[in-house]
Amino acid sequence: MDLHKNKMETKMKFKKFVSSGIVAALTAGAFLSTSALAQKAWPNKSITLVVPFAAGGPTDSVARLIAVPMGQALGQTVVVENVNGAGGTIASTKVARAAPDGYTIYLHHMGMATANALYDKLPYDPMQDFEYIGQVADVPMVLLGKKDLPPNNFKELEAYIRANGSKVTMANAGPGAVSQLCGLLFQSRMGVKLTNIPYKGTGPALTDLLGGQVDLLCDQTTQTIPYIKDGRVKAYGTTTLKRLPAIPNVPTLDEQGLKGFEVKVWHGMYTPKGVPKPILDKLNAALKKALNTPDVKKRLEDANIDIVSPDKMTPNGLKNHLDAEINKWGPIIRKANIPD
Ligand code: ASP
Repeated sequence: MDLHKNKMETKMKFKKFVSSGIVAALTAGAFLSTSALAQKAWPNKSITLVVPFAAGGPTDSVARLIAVPMGQALGQTVVVENVNGAGGTIASTKVARAAPDGYTIYLHHMGMATANALYDKLPYDPMQDFEYIGQVADVPMVLLGKKDLPPNNFKELEAYIRANGSKVTMANAGPGAVSQLCGLLFQSRMGVKLTNIPYKGTGPALTDLLGGQVDLLCDQTTQTIPYIKDGRVKAYGTTTLKRLPAIPNVPTLDEQGLKGFEVKVWHGMYTPKGVPKPILDKLNAALKKALNTPDVKKRLEDANIDIVSPDKMTPNGLKNHLDAEINKWGPIIRKANIPD
């Protein structure tokens, strides 16, 4: 009898325990919204890192370099997706319209600022449609010529393009790409009009320059330093105000007469607008960690790429810079009459 009574008491206590647990869980559930639960679990699947240019190009290379350590820091794979075309604006549109769940992130360069002045109407607003994770790195550019192009230095190049005009071809990665900006600023400063040929990225453009199918290309140093060093392309000048340590024999365009010619390609990481702050914080921490990996640092340094200072590697560091760059490049681009 006692045994039976004890059993009944235990059963009742158990029921009470279970039901109070359920009540507690339901109460907590009322406070934890679905999105909070989703954030808590984030990331529970792979993350897509959208790159706005072709595989094998400079933007793609920087993205692939940081995707692996970012994935390690987040405990999920970061998969690079190349969304090519229209100088990066197709990818920007896609990212602006993607779900703000933290599973789509975006690496783009200063084209995020210059496209504003190059296109009459963009389907996205760089200052309204994105969240900002942080700046990444600054990449210099070099004006390159195919190996067999007759001029051996900038002075000879000047005479050559004046004599040949639109017979000279210049590759770029479309309106909004920095290769296009650099090429057209160069033509504007020289007062010449060459034949501009758009590619889906400077990866394929460089392949054609190496193959001799196109004469000139203004490209970032990410892939080009080894080709310059072993003479497979000609380097006519850097777009920096100081010579680059990796190629000290290549003069700057500034010192060869194009005073103040400076294009340093800054990069930023974004998400669609509306990604919750705790996820943005985790992405920012993963980006910082990735950029501090010794292997990443070394590989960027070898390509003369500068990792940005910690204050720029922040959401505000990127947002403020983007705003300033939109204001800086608008007048320069309009004055240079780009696109032509
Ligand atoms: N950075 C681009 C690429 O990766 C090209 C460009 O902006 O000119 O192809």
